[in-house]
Amino acid sequence: MKNKDLLAIAKEFGAPVYVYDADKIKSQYERLSTAFSNVPQLKLNYAVKALSNISVLRLMNSLGAGLDTVSIQEVELGLAAGFNASDIIFTPNGVSLEELEEAALLGVQINIDNLSLLEQFGSKHPNTPVCIRINPHVMAGGNANISVGHIDSKFGISIHQIPHILRIVELTGMNINGIHMHTGSDILDIDVFLYASEILFDTAKNFKDLDFIDFGSGFKVPYKEGDIETNIEELGKKLSSRFNEFCREYGKDLTLGFEPGKFLVSEAGKFLVKVNVVKQTTSTVFAQVDSGFNHLIRPMLYGAKHHISNISNPKGKDRFYSVVGYICETDTFATNVKIAEITEGDILALDNAGAYCFSMASNYNSRFKPAEVLWYNDQAHLIRERESMEDLLRNQIDLKGVFTNEAVNAQ
Ligand SMILES: *Cc1c(COP(=O)(O)O)cnc(C)c1O
Repeated sequence: MKNKDLLAIAKEFGAPVYVYDADKIKSQYERLSTAFSNVPQLKLNYAVKALSNISVLRLMNSLGAGLDTVSIQEVELGLAAGFNASDIIFTPNGVSLEELEEAALLGVQINIDNLSLLEQFGSKHPNTPVCIRINPHVMAGGNANISVGHIDSKFGISIHQIPHILRIVELTGMNINGIHMHTGSDILDIDVFLYASEILFDTAKNFKDLDFIDFGSGFKVPYKEGDIETNIEELGKKLSSRFNEFCREYGKDLTLGFEPGKFLVSEAGKFLVKVNVVKQTTSTVFAQVDSGFNHLIRPMLYGAKHHISNISNPKGKDRFYSVVGYICETDTFATNVKIAEITEGDILALDNAGAYCFSMASNYNSRFKPAEVLWYNDQAHLIRERESMEDLLRNQIDLKGVFTNEAVNAQ
């Protein structure tokens, strides 16, 4: 996607607008597949929560991906996008037994992450194959909010509770066909990942009828030039050879699974916003754009740094700006960053806007959620219309018959 394409999209569909590059998604998918091409079977289940537009799911389906889902609604979305139930894994946490059963009835692979539901589900449905989510207690990355394998995490069943898992499996006669971990986003260190994998292999030995081992995700992607990223090729080489060795020991060719979200879609996305006001204060210059954390919350929620460029004036002289939004709340996208000189009306592009951006958007301040566009075959395809007043009012019940002047004054 070139600047001129992005500007044309902002013009045609208006700002703010999310744009996703299908080619980038495809090349990331192929990069990961290639890195693990030596294992007996590989299954890449795209994590729907990263970006859940139905057309993006269709694209994933056409690439041969499966889906990783965390709610029954994501399961339904996947089915609506044409996925077979058998290509969907359901990895929720803290859901009810009823929700698990509903998903199992649809035929998706169930992944259970607590002993209570394992026992209840196994007692009622001993013949439904179940995957178990393990917490290996390995800390990946540095941000406690996105590290989900450590000791205080609510995710997974602790490796120290394996004896209890085994007892439940024995008593219920249930069938465990997969072992899973997901240690959280932003794995910096391949060695940490391999270390966690050894714990998973050790766990797997306890189960005789496995079909797959799912290593979750957490691949780090670069947010700016020269940024560190997971070396997928090196991880592929090391983990594949270890996995193949494990399959030989285990006596069966298993499927190696991953559930990449960010890796597949983060870099493919750009968020285009328009500068409403350039505001000089005593200490800085603010560029105020027609968005805020209602549309992209990652900078405020996680301290994420999304690189910003001025695509209306790319050759302009760099100046320092703080880029903020227009909602009534502190909604800072960037502080004191260099951007080519900004004039009111310019379009700014925020990078890495594919993962956890639109999918976390809200209607705070009663603003509409932005449009979404998929760039495919050198063409812009609108895949979500910008919201309207009708959308904002949908499901609201207006008590106008109750609050008439007469009725209220008669009280
Ligand atoms: C969110 C999630 C993922 C995807 O993580 P990324 O960092 O986006 O790759 C994978 N597996 C599970 C269980 C998740 O909850």
